[in-house]
Amino acid sequence: MAQTALITGASRGIGREAALLLARQGMQIAVNYREQRGSADGLVSLLHRQGADAIAIQADVADREQVNKMVHNIEQAFGGVDVLVHSAGIAQQKLFTNIAPEEWRRMFAVHVDGLYHCCQAVLPHMIHQKAGRIVTVSSMWGEVGASCEVHYSAAKAAVIGMTKALAKELGPSGITVNCVSPGVIDTDMNALLTGETKAQLCEETPLCRIGTAREAAEAIAFLASDSAAFITGQVLGVNGGIVV
Ligand code: NAD
Repeated sequence: MAQTALITGASRGIGREAALLLARQGMQIAVNYREQRGSADGLVSLLHRQGADAIAIQADVADREQVNKMVHNIEQAFGGVDVLVHSAGIAQQKLFTNIAPEEWRRMFAVHVDGLYHCCQAVLPHMIHQKAGRIVTVSSMWGEVGASCEVHYSAAKAAVIGMTKALAKELGPSGITVNCVSPGVIDTDMNALLTGETKAQLCEETPLCRIGTAREAAEAIAFLASDSAAFITGQVLGVNGGIVV
């Protein structure tokens, strides 16, 4: 029977590319979106045209009830979730001294609470099956810290901590947990970067360019595949060498 993958934040960017690649591995795809229903439906139509089973499913990952309902609906449609990719994310650049409490909370709610909610919702099925793959998405800033992105860096560091701890706890249940840590990737998240900033980032990167969503998704697809069966608790950088 085909495996089912839930990809959060899949209506665009890295999540969208991961959905396309996992469908190519023969998985049934649950495309989670928060508000971009049109884009999520468009992706589902594309997946159907490519011969994959897919549904679009709304949930704000920060909201536990919405996540539980989403996973319940996926179970009704496809059976339990075998592969979870938590790609949903937000970014904000601000001096630390200006970060408002609600901005701090929201950053953790999406990245950290979101991962907590999604993992708890999908794990009963994975533990029952004694198999499963969880792929988290951190950032190079979660590894080395970014000025003016303290809340983002801290939340992404927490994602790495959760990945490693979960890998230890879930290994005996046959579940792997790994993290993809992108560098600068050309998605809407970076739409506000000026040409000058992008050029500077390229200059600082050994491979002399920024990455594509497809390149980050390839690492996700690998960690979700059978080829990565003996890999768990790892952080795989996809960053052109800017952080080594
Ligand atoms: P993106 O902005 O294109 O996509 C993020 C998606 O997450 C969007 O579709 C958005 O609607 C969704 N989302 C946000 N909050 C959500 C919520 N509460 N519930 C459900 N969905 C939600 O950005 P991207 O570049 O594709 O980012 C994907 C992941 O990669 C994020 O976790 C991001 O932090 C991480 N990342 C990106 C870069 C980069 O340079 N683009 C670098 C490092 C890490």
